[in-house]
Amino acid sequence: MAIQSDIQKGFIPLYLCATIGTTSTNAVDPLDSLCDIAQQNGIWVHVDAAYAGSACICPEFRHFMNGVEKANSFSLNAHKWFFSAPDCCCLWLKDPSGLRNSLSVNPTYLKNRATDSGEVVDYKDWQITLSRRFRAMKLWVVMKSYGVANLRKFLRSHVKMAKIFEGLVERDERFEVAVPRNFGMVCFRLSLDEVQKSNMFSLKLLEGINKTGRVYMTHAVVDGMYLIRFAAGGTMTEERHVIMAWKLVQEVAEKMLKGV
Ligand SMILES: *Cc1c(COP(=O)(O)O)cnc(C)c1O
Repeated sequence: MAIQSDIQKGFIPLYLCATIGTTSTNAVDPLDSLCDIAQQNGIWVHVDAAYAGSACICPEFRHFMNGVEKANSFSLNAHKWFFSAPDCCCLWLKDPSGLRNSLSVNPTYLKNRATDSGEVVDYKDWQITLSRRFRAMKLWVVMKSYGVANLRKFLRSHVKMAKIFEGLVERDERFEVAVPRNFGMVCFRLSLDEVQKSNMFSLKLLEGINKTGRVYMTHAVVDGMYLIRFAAGGTMTEERHVIMAWKLVQEVAEKMLKGV
């Protein structure tokens, strides 16, 4: 629909960004059908899997990516859920020639045998700046030192911890899980009789939680609903921390809701 209306207006739709794991709620776009529609219209599809892409090294989470083989490019932030220090973003392209053709610069002072042989990838040709840091080193060290089995174990344990937190929220009738949980993050809120009231008190609750200095949570606003975001993603996080975090939420809520 959006594509058709753009074409009718004389625009040329050329880029579609599908997100696997949105920032606010970890929602997942229907990649497979989006790619089909884009392909019919000659549109470049980029997959933004900044946070959730990591999960796909576990076979049980791979289905979130169904259709990814039809995409033109894919990005994943190793500094989010892949245990690398910021910044470290991986970009994959099905066909990098477009980047090379538009960004490549080849003054004589950069001429060298390796490049001439065509056996190396010159990443300077994939970006605007010439110089770049060796960020891949950080990721290489992470993969070498943990190995895929441990990395999977971490990711699975974070999802499990999020599930535990989700279960605790569901068992307390003052709260609700606000959107379906897909990965290591739970979006929850106070469930009072009016939306405005729920919003106001959820905001106050988040401030109260963070003021304790013991856990740190963030928020999002979706469809006029104020949500609190709880995420498990650190290498040192254990289930006992999750239980502690929920107890703390309940304590802060208890004090706040007195007399409401
Ligand atoms: C974090 C995030 C980004 C931003 O990534 P930067 O590397 O900080 O620019 C983009 N998209 C999604 C889905 C994210 O979670």
